[in-house]
Amino acid sequence: MASKEIKQLIQQFAKLPTINSRQAKKIIAYLLENLSNNGIDSGNFILLLERIRTNICKCEKCGNVLISQDYCEICYKSEKNFSNIICVVENLYELWRISALSNLDSYKFHILGGVISATNGISPDMLSILSLVQRIENEEASEVIIALNKSYNGSITVNYVANILKKKHPNLRISTFAGGLPSGTDLDFIDDRTLEMAMNSRILC
Ligand SMILES: [Zn+2]
Repeated sequence: MASKEIKQLIQQFAKLPTINSRQAKKIIAYLLENLSNNGIDSGNFILLLERIRTNICKCEKCGNVLISQDYCEICYKSEKNFSNIICVVENLYELWRISALSNLDSYKFHILGGVISATNGISPDMLSILSLVQRIENEEASEVIIALNKSYNGSITVNYVANILKKKHPNLRISTFAGGLPSGTDLDFIDDRTLEMAMNSRILC
């Protein structure tokens, strides 16, 4: 089998979401076989990873990941469109996906940083709820769309966040996906068109 360093690399890859140890081995084997030909520019690959690692920072508003002092394209678009709707998403991947849906790219976005989960040890104080409350006030938002997975933990989090926002901002419109999305569903299994329709015909929390 592989040398110690390669085994360690496989173990690191196997920690990534949706990658199991067999897939990790496949990826590393492919990388090793193609490092020296034109398939993969290994120097650039490693250089990019290192540049990202040393220059990574976050947008102070939405939580988008930026490199160095780049402006946040998502916040820039919403400011240009004078949006007063904030769409709350679970993580960076959901931010990239939902902000790219048609008709949604003018909204403001806010990464919550996860969903409440006893199994995964995520409590409400670990989520960016306080900064959301502050943003609603500072940016005079008229609506907050809580766009989380329709899983058990996602639904609990939607209710938790909605209750806090209702107390802090009684006049705020608080909505979530329309009931058309099946409960228990991960957003990853829902196609973009269905997601767009659910976002455009949302229901009040
Ligand atoms: Zn931003």
